[in-house]
Amino acid sequence: MVDHFQLRLVDSFMLAPRVRHLVFERADGSAFAFRPGQFLQVHFHYEDGKPTKRSYSVATVGDADSGPIQRIEIAVSYVEGGAATALLGGLEHGGEIEASGPYGRFCLMDEDANQRYLLIATGTGVTPYRAMLPQIRTLIHRRGCSFVLLYGARSETELLYGEEFEAFAREHPGFTFHPCFSRGARPDPRPHDRQGYVQSVLAELEPNEEHDIAYLCGNPDMVDAAFADLKERGLSVRQIRREKYISSR
Ligand SMILES: Cc1cc2nc3c(=O)[nH]c(=O)nc-3n(C[C@H](O)[C@H](O)[C@H](O)COP(=O)(O)OP(=O)(O)OC[C@H]3O[C@@H](n4cnc5c(N)ncnc54)[C@H](O)[C@@H]3O)c2cc1C
Repeated sequence: MVDHFQLRLVDSFMLAPRVRHLVFERADGSAFAFRPGQFLQVHFHYEDGKPTKRSYSVATVGDADSGPIQRIEIAVSYVEGGAATALLGGLEHGGEIEASGPYGRFCLMDEDANQRYLLIATGTGVTPYRAMLPQIRTLIHRRGCSFVLLYGARSETELLYGEEFEAFAREHPGFTFHPCFSRGARPDPRPHDRQGYVQSVLAELEPNEEHDIAYLCGNPDMVDAAFADLKERGLSVRQIRREKYISSR
């Protein structure tokens, strides 16, 4: 059920030179119920007083049973001249904003019976998959599923939560993590690193309509290109789930 509430900033740090990780709690002290993959909306006003809102995926890694969370984490990528960027980039600890949620259906579905998941993201589009990690662990153990996270970033400094995904992949052989760098290899390359745009690495994963479901999240151009590619390789529209990070003004 969608709820409206005040959020108080309790912690924050820079994940990358232009991406801020923000940790909120509801000002009324209540927990926040959401399904991993969902997003919330931040409501605010332009300088002329006109109301507006922006969407942000919840990045919190909660419990395995996806129970309500106390800490609502989001990752905000700074956009030049952006209204929400100014608000969320400048928010001080203790500061409050108005929000609502949860929204969206970009979630892992109980009824799916596929063997493999292809999780594809660019930039902050990786945050839904971070929130899904407890569910991913359960699906690996209970259903023997495998997961491939193909994550596009320009460079190592822009790779968000990279060490967390690396650690998760080390602990769970059913989870493979391919960081994919579009502006050249990192100084100390790792075996699962790939080069180029994520779309160019898709072929290597041999997407297969028999056993795959794909999730695409982030830059709209990447989502469109990967969607077209996966359809060409035989996946049906039902097997390809998308979340485009377009400005929701
Ligand atoms: C479902 C959903 C989930 C989202 N989740 C996240 C998230 O987790 N983290 C996150 O950072 N963003 C996310 N977004 C995008 C976010 O809602 C805002 O659009 C983004 O933060 C820019 O808002 P702004 O007010 O700062 O910029 P705006 O004031 O909306 O835009 C300022 C200028 O920048 C351009 N612009 C807008 N967005 C971009 C962009 N991404 N790249 C380049 N130019 C742009 C606009 O066209 C405009 O000219 C999500 C969007 C959707 C629809």
